[in-house]
Amino acid sequence: MKRPLRIGLAANRLHIQGADSALPRLLNEARESIVTYLRPQFVVVGRTLDAIQRLKILEGYPHLERFPYGREGGLMRLVSRIVDHDPEQGLDAIIYLMDPVDPSSIFPEAVALKRQCIIHGKPFLSSFAGAREWLELEAVAAGAAFDPRLNDVFDLSRESIALIAHDSMKQNMLALAEKHFTLLDRFSTRYATGTTGGLLNELAMRIKGPAAGKNWVSPLLSGPMGGDAQIAELILDKKCRRTLFLEDPHVARQHEADIQLLERAARTVSDFASCVTELKFAERWCTLMQLRTRSP
Ligand code: PGA
Repeated sequence: MKRPLRIGLAANRLHIQGADSALPRLLNEARESIVTYLRPQFVVVGRTLDAIQRLKILEGYPHLERFPYGREGGLMRLVSRIVDHDPEQGLDAIIYLMDPVDPSSIFPEAVALKRQCIIHGKPFLSSFAGAREWLELEAVAAGAAFDPRLNDVFDLSRESIALIAHDSMKQNMLALAEKHFTLLDRFSTRYATGTTGGLLNELAMRIKGPAAGKNWVSPLLSGPMGGDAQIAELILDKKCRRTLFLEDPHVARQHEADIQLLERAARTVSDFASCVTELKFAERWCTLMQLRTRSP
């Protein structure tokens, strides 16, 4: 039998302040998924675990492991555990609810945590909406009924998605989009950075013929020319909830600031937006989205 997920858990101060902050809302809203279906081991950085106990969230849940406080290296240790493939020690995913104006959200360990998640093919969820959706998708994969409170956000005919791939990932994006074309085709609007968008439009034309229209994807500027920033504004305006961004973590990127800006936009509207930034997770995400959005 597959062992339960091991999830690293942390949150910036804003998200653990009170009972209506993002972390307590997340764990309370997803309680059934967590307690009944996934039963994950949570490895929790000190102050976040203090808040869980103070706010009496997940009371009686036995699978909570304390990690040191951030100032004692708790987050740094999470990075080491995400790269560890020992099933007893390693982590399968990170939920790190980030506040983009909290300086610790750009500390090296925070940046490295996301980068190593990408390198090791593990989900990195940094917004409330992303974490909430992921727990729902994994719970549904484990046999849970759909949570009706999320039905609206899974009505793809009213949703947009942004698709971006760095150069070395463009072929992977095309393969992903071809394999999951029916899912992506159900979104009301697809946005993309310039070059990625051009390639995806050629793919759509090949699959759907003229029915794809000229712009199956609405291409914005190329990433290095500001396309990421244009997508960030769509996210901030709540016109685009989801982003699939296949990043290349192994090259120096001239528009690093733009790349970071895009994900920070999702964290700015944390209750609304989410980013999937890695191929293996993107594959699973598409498969589970298909499951979650079919008629029950
Ligand atoms: P592109 O931009 O799709 O225009 O190549 C992606 C990027 O490099 O950010």
